[in-house]
This record gives sequence, structure tokens and C-alpha cells, in this order.
Amino acid sequence: MASVFSRIIAGEIPSYKVAEDENYYAFLDINPLTKGHTLVVPKKEVDYIFDLDDDTLAGMMVFAKKVAAKIKQEIDCKRVAVVVLGMEVPHAHIHLIPINSEADVDFHREKLALTAEEFQEIASKLAK
Ligand code: AMP
Repeated sequence: MASVFSRIIAGEIPSYKVAEDENYYAFLDINPLTKGHTLVVPKKEVDYIFDLDDDTLAGMMVFAKKVAAKIKQEIDCKRVAVVVLGMEVPHAHIHLIPINSEADVDFHREKLALTAEEFQEIASKLAK
């Protein structure tokens, strides 16, 4: 069965899209640690990030770099943190998290409860 992220890429499940090219897709994490928390995924469905072929893995980081630059430009933050966990969804993905302190990347913290309008507003800014 296709992963939830493959279904998002296929448009079967809605997402707040931030960026897309031939090989990668970026969208807002639905349980964000901070405003602008974004996921970058390869369109090729592979569970573990280090099982990706070299070109896909390298290209994913270059794509993430462009998305991170946009996040840095649009969201008030000191850095954009890069985190890979993959404990929940078996489709390789990079978390890009705008942070002002180390505490902002604590995945045990309560996630932000944003409205659909807030998600849409952030996605629109990042997709510009
Ligand atoms: P992990 O696999 O541990 O990196 O966590 C998966 C991440 O995907 C979590 O932060 C979830 O909030 C996020 N997530 C799961 N389903 C969706 C979805 N349908 N749309 C956006 N984000 C999602």
C-alpha cells in the first residue's frame, strides 16, 4: 500500500504544499513544532533515508536547501534545523524546522494547533 506521503504527492490526501519539482515534494507538517515546520520527501517511495540511491539523497538535500532558504526569508527564526526521524511514516523525509533555540526541536513538546487558515497563510508565503 502506498505511504501517506505518496498519497499526498498523488493528490489523494490534501496537504499544504510549499514546493515541488520532478523528484521532490515539500509540504507543511500537520503537527508543527514551530510555524513553518516543513517536510521534504522524495517522490520515489523508500522507507529509510539511507536506503535512497546516492543521487536521490544528494538531490533531496539540495532541494531542502532551497526550501530552507525560503523558510529563513519568510519566518522569523535564527536557523532552520534539519531533522530526520522516520519513526512514524515509512517514507523517507527531512523535517525543516525554523528555530530560535534548541528547545524548539524537542519532539516531545506539545505541537502547535494551527487553524486551516494559518496553515494556508504560511504555505502561501513559503510557496511564493
Ligand atoms: P516521523 O516519521 O517520526 O519523522 O514523523 C512523521 C511526521 O509526519 C510527523 O511530524 C507528522 O506530524 C507528519 N505527518 C503525518 N501525516 C501527515 C500528513 N497527512 N500531513 C502532514 N504531515 C503529516
